[in-house]
Amino acid sequence: MSGDTEKDAKPNPLFRDITADDYDPEITEMASLCVNCEEEGMTRLFLTKIPFFREVIVSSFQCDHCGMRNAELMPAGRLQDKGVVYKVNIQTPQDMNRQVVQSQSAAVRIPCLEFEAPPKKGLLSTVEGIISQAIDDLNQCQPLRKVQDPEVAAKIEVFIEKMQNLLKLETPFDLVVDDPTGNSFVENPYPFDFSVFAWL
Ligand SMILES: [Zn+2]
Repeated sequence: MSGDTEKDAKPNPLFRDITADDYDPEITEMASLCVNCEEEGMTRLFLTKIPFFREVIVSSFQCDHCGMRNAELMPAGRLQDKGVVYKVNIQTPQDMNRQVVQSQSAAVRIPCLEFEAPPKKGLLSTVEGIISQAIDDLNQCQPLRKVQDPEVAAKIEVFIEKMQNLLKLETPFDLVVDDPTGNSFVENPYPFDFSVFAWL
């Protein structure tokens, strides 16, 4: 069922640290229908463990016929007893690379820009990845907007520029991940220095 798990005799634990160098998780593969072209594609499911967080299921789909791909993240556990709000101050390229688990109930906010991305599908990304995705989302409708509503388009253009300045780390900024189900997480590169990691 799974590909290259027999490389050595050492048994693979079901849950693996996602940052482990010998990243080689147990993968379950299932043929499944492509939502794009309706040919047969392949869904791969694997369990993985995110350090200092918990186990999650990563589901990735790929269609060899039309090239469609997507990946989704689902918490392997139940709803947590408490919601979480992570507020992290982003100052360095290392902060930009912090891993973010965004569950399908989590909203992401950047207070200095009054920006909020509502919950969507669960995903595993980084701070940089989340901002880049938000820029892509805003850019997507700009050509149409410039025709239909040039005034709004111009305002969004200015906003996109501000988002791009965040990526360049021109000034430190806060990023908030707010998840009432408690299944989101922002990696802390300094796990034992609580002064740099604000729990609200
Ligand atoms: Zn397809």
